[in-house]
Amino acid sequence: MSVVPSLSELHALGAAQQPSYPDPAAVDAAVARLRTAPPLVFAGECDDLKGKIAAVARGEAFLLQGGDCAETFAGVTADNVRNKLRVLLQMAVVLTYAASVPVVKVGRIAGQYAKPRSSDLETRDLPDGTQRTLPAYRGDAVNGFEFTEASRVPDPQRLVEVYNASASTLNLVRAFVTGGYADLRQVHTWNTDFVRESQVGQKYEAMANEIERALTFMQAIGANPDEFHRVDFHSSHEALVLEYEHAMTRIDSRTTLPYDVSGHFVWIGERTRQLDGAHVELLSHIRNPIGVKLGPSTTPDDALALAAKLNPDNEPGRLTFITRFGAGRIRDGLPHLVEKVTAAGLDIAWVCDPMHGNTFEASSGYKTRRFDDVIDEVQGFFDVHRSLGTWPGGLHVELTGDDVTECVGGGEDLTDLDLAHRYESVCDPRLNRVQSLELSFLVAEMLRARTD
Ligand code: PEP
Ligand code: MN
Repeated sequence: MSVVPSLSELHALGAAQQPSYPDPAAVDAAVARLRTAPPLVFAGECDDLKGKIAAVARGEAFLLQGGDCAETFAGVTADNVRNKLRVLLQMAVVLTYAASVPVVKVGRIAGQYAKPRSSDLETRDLPDGTQRTLPAYRGDAVNGFEFTEASRVPDPQRLVEVYNASASTLNLVRAFVTGGYADLRQVHTWNTDFVRESQVGQKYEAMANEIERALTFMQAIGANPDEFHRVDFHSSHEALVLEYEHAMTRIDSRTTLPYDVSGHFVWIGERTRQLDGAHVELLSHIRNPIGVKLGPSTTPDDALALAAKLNPDNEPGRLTFITRFGAGRIRDGLPHLVEKVTAAGLDIAWVCDPMHGNTFEASSGYKTRRFDDVIDEVQGFFDVHRSLGTWPGGLHVELTGDDVTECVGGGEDLTDLDLAHRYESVCDPRLNRVQSLELSFLVAEMLRARTD
């Protein structure tokens, strides 16, 4: 059995997108603290999720993975966590009911605190007409969002804070999903306040009525399975900061195999998927289900080499490819990858991230995405898989349960001018609650067309 390399062996391979910590002793102290911290998730739960993703790869289930681009420590509040969970539960119900497909639910939650950046530096115009350049914000796991010299210094103590924030988020999520909030009889309750007023909220309400009738019928005939009252919900994040992921990698006592117990599912980002790099190496040793983001520069041989390294035994459910080509490129770029991977007999779950290839800067200066581009990329993803006879396994989206204005378009028809109204993301623009629900209805239609 392969042994997990040490942190210094990993760094020696070259690791992209790592913080430059000024104080090595402080890094050692934080890592030592994390190594003794209890696991956030259990290896058996990771195996369960692997089994569910194997069903996705076989074409028997659909993966819904969503949440913030970047969680923040300040965002760990009961309202915020509940709202995110609520919109994911609503989307999952829409997909399950409207498309009659089991949905595997995974949050970008309880650990999504570290961000890769295209530039190490950020320059801003100051009110006095001058400019200032500081190290880029790399997520609350690394440094502060505040645009000051002091705040942008990477602080390893933040990794311990990531652990604590993730623990309290997971604790709440576990309570919500097993303690009654996720009970299917709550379908109406999830649709409270502003959403009910929107067109998509009314569409949801009509569906919730049908579900309620079906539940009442089931109850009348004496069927009341556990699945009506609780859901399986899993946590995921990008495995980016090596110190954190390595410290959270433990040997599972049942199997004596290593698992990264910081989350159920971890993925490698587009900027850190170098075949000989530290991230691919570390994740090749852990036994969790894992993902790799694949952008438009990925060649079929890259995909095959990643699969050979990360899943040499072709274990079902182990490897998910999350493609993020952009609406304009997916129809040309994706077929070669899927064809070659399929021809090689590889067991892969294909998931569409329709966000990261569709980001642009609005005239107002905000980073945004068009709702129509998001839909177009998902449609392209479905079209490609349909033409190849492969299964469009899931959706990976950046969203929030709140009424933010970060992506343009959608039923509320948000414009560039609306962006300033409630732009709260510290990183990439997220779909708001109404846009997320709209997306789920549109994807349910695509799924229905696929399975009819
Ligand atoms: C992300 O998921 O937030 C992200 C940075 O994605 P990618 O690695 O695909 O650019
Ligand atoms: Mn992002």
